[in-house]
Amino acid sequence: MNEKSDFLINDSRIVSMRGNKNSVVPQIPYGWLVEKERTASGNIEETGIIFLTNRECPFHCLMCDLWKNTTDESVPVGAIPDQIRYALEKMPSLKHIKLYNSGSFFDVRAIPEADYPEIAWLLKDFETVIVECHPRLINEKCLKFRDMLTSNLNIALGLETVNPEILKLLNKQMTLDDFAKASEFLSENKIRSRAFILLRPPLLSEAEGIYWAERSVDFAFSSGIECCTIIPVRAGNGIMDKLMEKGDFNLPDINSLEKVVEYGIRLKKGRVFADTWDLGLFSKCEKCTKKRTDRLVEMNLTQKIVPPVECTCTEK
Ligand code: SF4
Ligand SMILES: [Zn+2]
Repeated sequence: MNEKSDFLINDSRIVSMRGNKNSVVPQIPYGWLVEKERTASGNIEETGIIFLTNRECPFHCLMCDLWKNTTDESVPVGAIPDQIRYALEKMPSLKHIKLYNSGSFFDVRAIPEADYPEIAWLLKDFETVIVECHPRLINEKCLKFRDMLTSNLNIALGLETVNPEILKLLNKQMTLDDFAKASEFLSENKIRSRAFILLRPPLLSEAEGIYWAERSVDFAFSSGIECCTIIPVRAGNGIMDKLMEKGDFNLPDINSLEKVVEYGIRLKKGRVFADTWDLGLFSKCEKCTKKRTDRLVEMNLTQKIVPPVECTCTEK
């Protein structure tokens, strides 16, 4: 591991290197889709994701590009239910729904508390509702919202990495203790939680990237997390591109993603998923990228180790 970057990384530097935001509308979600996911009960079912438009997250994590589809100011009361209604009208009938808001669902400047009852009513036919939240914003509001829902509430927390120096560098403004407390609070209150884990954040070699992602999976499960998603780190938000230019950040390899997911599935402590979006970014071999992506999708759905892809790019 490079001891540290000689490139200054702090909150204002991260923000100052950003490009422009996309144009978004408070009454319309900036995206929605339906994907297959293996549920906690072991079935493969269609799950909807609504990408809600709302005020930018107050944290400015080094690797984050979610600010691109956010507003500068809070959206008015009623806008979030409007967005959910808008997306649900376009989606088929589903049992599970994720509301991802480019930040924390329980950040009241992002999702107004006054909207909770209407949101809960709109989601009354779903079996599972999954939202995301920064661990430091896990509190009684989660219970208030859970009690309004007829569905099971699941909460996704960003663990990112258990390497303490790198976690600090990421500007997540969270300690591992904060994460463990949030996870414990959710377990005590019978709310299922999942963790987002980064594969190869800046300043780590490929091997260290794998090592720390695996240790992060260990930590997540030992903290009571039920499901982990491994996210290969990308550039594209300004500062990450700069770090890549300086050699302080390199994109991870798709093979490393396969290794970490295999490791996590073998543990049999809970579901382990790969983020399979745009994996071509993480492969230099055109011959096997699609096969490796299909392998990861199959492992996501079956939670079994699929035979490895054989290709000249991995021959010794
Ligand atoms: S807490 Fe999540 S949404 Fe907020 S800046 Fe960090 S990664 Fe992005
Ligand atoms: Zn190949």
